[in-house]
Amino acid sequence: MKTMNEFSLIEAIKQKTYKQASLERGIGDDTAIFRETAGELAVAVDTFVEGVHFTEKTMSPFQLGYRALAANFSDLAAMGALPMYYLVSLVVPDRMKESKLLEIFKGMEHLSNRHGADLIGGDTVSGKDLVLSVTVIGKIEKGKARYRNLAKVDDIVFATGTLGDSRAGLYILQHDLQIDGRDYFINRHQLPTPRVTFSNSLRSIKRLALNDISDGIGNEVHEIAEESGVSIVLEDEKVPTHPGLATFPAELQQKWKYFGGEDFELVGTVAKKDWQTVQQKAEKLNLRVTAIGHVMNKDEHAVYLDKNGNINKLSKEGYTHLK
Ligand code: ADP
Ligand code: MG
Repeated sequence: MKTMNEFSLIEAIKQKTYKQASLERGIGDDTAIFRETAGELAVAVDTFVEGVHFTEKTMSPFQLGYRALAANFSDLAAMGALPMYYLVSLVVPDRMKESKLLEIFKGMEHLSNRHGADLIGGDTVSGKDLVLSVTVIGKIEKGKARYRNLAKVDDIVFATGTLGDSRAGLYILQHDLQIDGRDYFINRHQLPTPRVTFSNSLRSIKRLALNDISDGIGNEVHEIAEESGVSIVLEDEKVPTHPGLATFPAELQQKWKYFGGEDFELVGTVAKKDWQTVQQKAEKLNLRVTAIGHVMNKDEHAVYLDKNGNINKLSKEGYTHLK
């Protein structure tokens, strides 16, 4: 469909040049065309609805665009894929200014430039609420997909970064809190870093199970355990959090650490012999990586939390967006 300003919008968002060598046609024809060159292609889509996934109070249009693409790139990272292309489908309310729409695209461009990905198409229609849907295409070296079902008994479980930051940032924004660390947490909510470069740097490792942390590590680790048919023990005191998180009530800290979600960090499992490589690659990128537990052989495919020797099942709960 063509809304009144669709032509000028498309002209404005169209890249002047494309970075990906396999591209034949970008924006401007009935479909984009690229040559098939990669070993394997990874494809994912994510949709964001105003009032459900974001509000004006907590996110600017630039940040919305950045974050929507970051969520998709994070899925690619969790598969071991490098971003190549993305497509953007928009439902635009009539009242929305074109300048705001362009800001959304600027946010996406900011992140895509960092990873050499190109915007190659999309669709624009009018509707009641703002909806942004982003599709990404990435490439994976043959045999190097990081499936959730690849965890093996005795693997080390690790996580990047610190957990619960994004949820803390959202809480600060929603409650207008003026506290130490305010800017840090808000930034982690609005402009999270998908761990694409780190995931790609692990190419030499033969087998890795990876998942990105979009619904809290508690949920993501359950997915690995279930898909791999194993159990996982996490050691509570090892699960990494930012020191500033300690300013919040203990109950919230615990909730956000395991079920806060949207940190877009990675959680994974790796054979003991490859753990040193994981650490070295992370160090090179100045990225924190922490061993937080191990994979064990148990009939129930459950996740256990070890709190100073007290071991309890970590229930699957928390806030899971309807997807
Ligand atoms: P068609 O009628 O063939 O679907 P459109 O008028 O919808 O074509 O789109 C024209 C061109 O602009 C196409 O290349 C399409 O991929 C691109 N395009 C439209 N909307 C967007 C958008 N929101 N983001 C990126 N590209 C878009
Ligand atoms: Mg169209």
